[in-house]
Amino acid sequence: MIVEVALNLPLQKTFDYAWPEGLDVDPVPGLRVLVPFARRKMGGVITALKKHSDFSPLKKVEKTIEEDPSMTGEILDLCRWVASYYFCGWGEVLNSSLPGGMGLLLRQEFVRKRESLPGVEMLGKPFQNLVSTKERWSLEDWNRNQPGNEEKKLLKEWLRQGHLEKVQTFAGQRSRPKMERWVRLLNPEAKGDPKRKKTKKVQILEKLKKSPESSWEEIRSSIPNPAQALKNLEKEGVVEFFEKRVFRRFLAEPMPPIEEFQQLTDDQQKVFEELDDSIHKDEYQTFLLEGVTGSGKTEVYLHAVRLTQELGKSSLVLVPEISLTPLLVNRFRSRFGDNVAVLHSGMDDGERYDEWSRVRNGLTSIVVGARSAVFAPLNNLGLVIVDEEHDGSYKQAETPRYHARDVAVYRGFKANATVLLGSATPSLESSYNVQLGKYHPLFLKKRIFQPELPEVRLMDLKHCDRQKGSPYFSMELLEAIRQRLIRREQVLIFLNRRGYAPLMICEECNETLTCPNCSLSLVFHQGIGGLRCHHCDYFLPTPKTCPECGSKGPQKIVGSGTEQIEMELKNIFPRAEIMRMDRDALHGKHALSKMQRRIHDHEVDIVVGTQLITKGHDFPNVTLVGAILADLSLNLPDFRAGERTFQLLTQVAGRAGRAEKPGEVFIQTYNPRHHSLQCARDHDAKRYLEVELKQRKVLKVPPYWSMVLILCSSPSEKRAETLASMVRGRIKKIPQNVTIIGPLESPLKKLRNRFRWQVLLKAPEISVLKSLLNEMMQEPIKVQKDELLQIDVDPHHLI
Ligand code: ADP
Ligand code: ZN
Ligand code: ZN
Repeated sequence: MIVEVALNLPLQKTFDYAWPEGLDVDPVPGLRVLVPFARRKMGGVITALKKHSDFSPLKKVEKTIEEDPSMTGEILDLCRWVASYYFCGWGEVLNSSLPGGMGLLLRQEFVRKRESLPGVEMLGKPFQNLVSTKERWSLEDWNRNQPGNEEKKLLKEWLRQGHLEKVQTFAGQRSRPKMERWVRLLNPEAKGDPKRKKTKKVQILEKLKKSPESSWEEIRSSIPNPAQALKNLEKEGVVEFFEKRVFRRFLAEPMPPIEEFQQLTDDQQKVFEELDDSIHKDEYQTFLLEGVTGSGKTEVYLHAVRLTQELGKSSLVLVPEISLTPLLVNRFRSRFGDNVAVLHSGMDDGERYDEWSRVRNGLTSIVVGARSAVFAPLNNLGLVIVDEEHDGSYKQAETPRYHARDVAVYRGFKANATVLLGSATPSLESSYNVQLGKYHPLFLKKRIFQPELPEVRLMDLKHCDRQKGSPYFSMELLEAIRQRLIRREQVLIFLNRRGYAPLMICEECNETLTCPNCSLSLVFHQGIGGLRCHHCDYFLPTPKTCPECGSKGPQKIVGSGTEQIEMELKNIFPRAEIMRMDRDALHGKHALSKMQRRIHDHEVDIVVGTQLITKGHDFPNVTLVGAILADLSLNLPDFRAGERTFQLLTQVAGRAGRAEKPGEVFIQTYNPRHHSLQCARDHDAKRYLEVELKQRKVLKVPPYWSMVLILCSSPSEKRAETLASMVRGRIKKIPQNVTIIGPLESPLKKLRNRFRWQVLLKAPEISVLKSLLNEMMQEPIKVQKDELLQIDVDPHHLI
């Protein structure tokens, strides 16, 4: 028997291996195995079985990693499609489809072949101890003693002369199933000593008669030190012990009480009926539900999931990472109880592995999760929901660079499922698909509680009066805040930049402090007393002298971030409770939901935050939203900058006045005439779509044209350029309709110590670009150590 195995390599092809005699498990597609590859061992996934191979001799599979395959046939196929669409390795996608805790532990070890090693006395004490007392030790043990040149040289010599052997050992999976010891009552007739009433034995038997299977933990909680009595009972054959798998849970708190489903409003009912039809039909169909925040989309999702459950099918619900808070999750749990599995990156490895296992073992049929949950191994999928479908975080920034929304649509298509994309501000791509007739449009135009949308005002920073000493605030905005504080209402202040100020400039030489690893200026953070790079996290304590000219002169800070806005508000409104909500303020696992709860319970009056404040729960008492500077996202050199700004502002504005109280929104800007801002002001998504689509057509960018970005990066500037030229050189003849931009230096020319050059390919059809890519990359382009050649299909970040 021969198996094809996909390995975690940037290659689309699989490798053939012989299946050896004597393994306990039979080969099936989806099973993970350990195989030899290029003088080492690697984990891989069986993708097919066959009788013959074109290669010989074949190496043998070394070991099976599991008894039951991790991958279902559906996920295998889905990953293959992702690999071919996004131009990366099948094994790479398979690997990233599994929770991190399922990664394999492969250790490098050294095995001593001689009684003593020549020259050992030349080493430091810790090394001598290690290599003389042990027969084998790991690379980590060795490195922990911080080997210097002497040690390194000697190690190499020992290996060369065969005194030592380097081997790789497999130490299982990173997260293991958590097992608990349990007790099962075998003889319900058993009795304790009738004369002695409350012996441990009697107590244990009483307990077991109520619940014949109990964990040791449970017994111990009511009967102290039960071990001896339990062991005696086992000897007597009254009970037996067994191991039971328990699933670690992220949400330790008890299940929220079960809630009734809301009676749908007429508008919701209309939307639901279309979904109902489609879900019953077992045919693929994608819907785009456009509904302002607070219009009751989530309630519709819940109803659709219930219907899917009733039909015996499973549901996949994707939401952006940061909206995946316990508040949202509990809305699902309070309707469907333990049938909901939650998958996101805030969970630790064990928890995520266990949730995933619950899905794989069929213990749940509803998954609510972030991006990578699109690969959750649900069977019999009936419904796929992608909430906030426009959100950029669905696109993965590293290999495999898939877009979870698009993968979700494809998954639904293959599974004959109903796909529901929801958003207050649909992406241009999805809206265009409605125009093309590929997606079916649905609308929820009114909010449930507050039929009026908030009044939005654009404040022209060039002309409005500013607060003295706090130039970032218009007088009107401050006055509006003051009014809310008097009325005991809450305020959200939005600025999409964390830190205190984005620039620190020397007054002597006018140089800006920049990151040594990236071509970006460092952001001043007062809280940590220094400057930080927002891309590579480089930190520089506030310098006493200018690193450029050495002058002790004053350093000037320019611009503002959330930290500064928070401080200024504290000065202006000393009695108000103010909370900052950005990545710097998030500490610990449940930080975001704690903050949301504080807002909800009105423990804070003013919240200053980045886009973290735009997501999540209802804040019924928020009646004012202020955007300090809308231009931040508008001015990026990216054709999606306007779209993102429109979406962001619409989302932020949607936070104002959700309950009985009307809301008001102030947007401060230097570009009050920009259509992204004007349409956000008028809540006019339709006009926005028209204007923006027209521009996109002229610019020849998505959704009309498809793009592939090839990014070459190297520690050497020259090499980055050379690589990009090599990429360009691979295109011998430019196919009709294809536009090539580059090789060019990337707008962000240096990042994390690598210089970046790029080639951008554009065409009206992605298929043209895919075949061009296939042709170009037939022979892989060789990169050196620390260099990267990244292919990004449908790129979302062009800088
Ligand atoms: P969205 O997801 O569009 O922001 P939600 O579903 O969260 O909207 O609804 C907003 C608020 O209205 C929530 O507090 C929700 O409980 C409530 N709600 C939604 N649908 C109904 C309904 N049919 N009847 C009563 N309240 C509803
Ligand atoms: Zn200077
Ligand atoms: Zn940096």
